[in-house]
Formats: sequence, structure tokens, C-alpha cells
Amino acid sequence: MSSTTSGMVCGHHHLYSTLARGMPAPPTRPVDFRSILEQIWWRLDVELDLETIRWSAMLGAVEALMSGTTGIVDHHESPNAIEGSLDVIADACAEVGVRVVCSYGVTERHGVDGGRRGLAENERFIRAGGRGMVGVHAAFTCSDGLLDDAAGLARDLGVGMHIHVAEGPDDRDAGRRLRGIAAPDWLLVHCVGLEEPLPGRIAHNPRSNMNNAVGYARPARFGESVVLGTDGIGSDMLEEFRLAYVAHRSDDVTASPETAWAWLTNGHDLIPECRDDSVTWSYDMADSAWHVAFTPGVRALRVESATGEVLLDNGRPTRVDLAEVRAKAAEAAQNLFRRLS
Ligand SMILES: [Zn+2]
Repeated sequence: MSSTTSGMVCGHHHLYSTLARGMPAPPTRPVDFRSILEQIWWRLDVELDLETIRWSAMLGAVEALMSGTTGIVDHHESPNAIEGSLDVIADACAEVGVRVVCSYGVTERHGVDGGRRGLAENERFIRAGGRGMVGVHAAFTCSDGLLDDAAGLARDLGVGMHIHVAEGPDDRDAGRRLRGIAAPDWLLVHCVGLEEPLPGRIAHNPRSNMNNAVGYARPARFGESVVLGTDGIGSDMLEEFRLAYVAHRSDDVTASPETAWAWLTNGHDLIPECRDDSVTWSYDMADSAWHVAFTPGVRALRVESATGEVLLDNGRPTRVDLAEVRAKAAEAAQNLFRRLS
């Protein structure tokens, strides 16, 4: 028994983090949001080179397809390999057959020049015809000047801005600082501590928020504009939906899975073509919120692109050799771990 749905969309991803699983433990154990960033992610991202990014993105894209996810909205940072990084990610996804919207997360963590180079990468990629948004890491690692310039660039390019907002206590000022420049085409990620809504869509990432102990974002308060993302922990959107539902339910016992299902399907507003991709699942009620919410382990068996091309057959990608991608990614991960330890 099986059923068919549209392709799923991951509304916020970090393909660069696919190889992080199993990385060496940091020198100091992180104890809060800030130290998780400093000890894990900001140590990892400085070690990324274009080759590592390529295999991280390839494996992430393959795993997305194997989860029935045909569209990814990616947010990338690699402070020592900025130029060309968005092309590497876009090319890896194209090779596998997954749609991607790329953005480089600009930040002044590595100085003003780092911020400028990040902005230039967004501009270069999008002006050359790449599908993207202007990325910003978060308000708390950027000056007001850089935030204004990023917002201006997004307006000039006719795209939205993709930015982490009030994920943890260090960024609690984000709402105040972004008010007045945020626009309806922005993608505002997390918004756990955002008190007054800003213009834009909200990307809710329940697994990541739990993993970082930043609290429940209560996304239902933002109304219709919520999408689901994984924040880099895979691309299994039915799994993220189940977590979104149960996190909602833990906050409000009257919550219905229909709400989190709407967040899941809102992802099609970000990458509309995924509506015309078709996924056949290992379960006959994969199109029903009430069934999927209580049925872990539903697998994608087949993915057919809107163009009619079969991208996943019997659960395996057709365009790339799964064993080879896994082997190359494992090799890249070992090299990365050596640099980290
Ligand atoms: Zn994120």
C-alpha cells in the first residue's frame, strides 16, 4: 500500500552541516546557546573549504531526496571559503536533482571585510542568475550598517532576506533592530524570542530548538505565515512535521496536527515547483496529517520531478551513486575532523 504527495520543502537548512555528525567533541562543553555557536558551529564553519562544502551538500541533497524533499532553502556560512561557495551548493543540488534557494549568511564575526565579502557572494551569485535570497547570519553578529546594506541589496535584487531572528537570548534585540527594514518577502528563522511580529515568513525548526534548549517558539501566534525547516539536521520533513505537532501539543493540548501540516505545506510558497513533483510513500495515508502525526518511519519510495524524470527509484537516487556519495562524504568528514581536533 502506498500514497502520493507533492515534493516536500525544507524551509531552512544548512547543507554545510551535513558532515558535522560525529565531529570531535569541542575543547569546552557548551552550556548555552552562545557557547553552542562558539564551540560547535563557529569552529566548524571556519574549517570548511569548497571541496568539503561540495560533499556536505551532495550528501545533504541525496538524503533530502531519499526523504521525499525536493526543495531546500539553504543558509550557508564558510568564512574561509566565501567566494564561489553558493555555486558549489547549487551545483551539488542540481546534480542530485533537488531544487535549492541559496543564501550566504553575512556576519561581522570575522570583521567588517568578512561582512562585505559575504554580501558580495550573495550579489555575485544572484546577479549571475542563481536562485537565491540575501542571507544574514543574525542581527547580533552584524552592525546596523551591514543590516541596512543587506536589506538594500535584497530590495535591489528583488529577493527576500533569509536571517536568523531571536533564536536565543543573545539576539533578543533583533525585533527592534529589524523593524523598519524587514519586508514581506523575508524569511525569519526561529523567532523564539520575537515578541512583536515582523513582516515576512517564519521558519520554525522544532528539533533544532529543542536540541539547543532555546525554548518553544509558539509559532501558532504568527498565524498563516509559518513554514517548517530542519536547521541542518537532515531534510526529513514528515519527521519535522511530527515534531512540530507534538511540540505544539506539549504547549497546548487542544492543538490539532492540521496546524503543523499547514506549516509543512506552506513550504510550497517558497519553492512553488515542488507542488508538481510527486513522491510515492511506503504508507497509504501519507497525505493525511492525522495519520502521519502518529506514524513514524514513513519512507519515500519514488520521486518523480515535475518534468517527468524519476529522481528516486526504490528509495535510491537515480542520478548519483549513493555508495560513492557516502564514501566521498565520509572521506571529506574525516579530513574535516582532523582539522578540528
Ligand atoms: Zn539556521
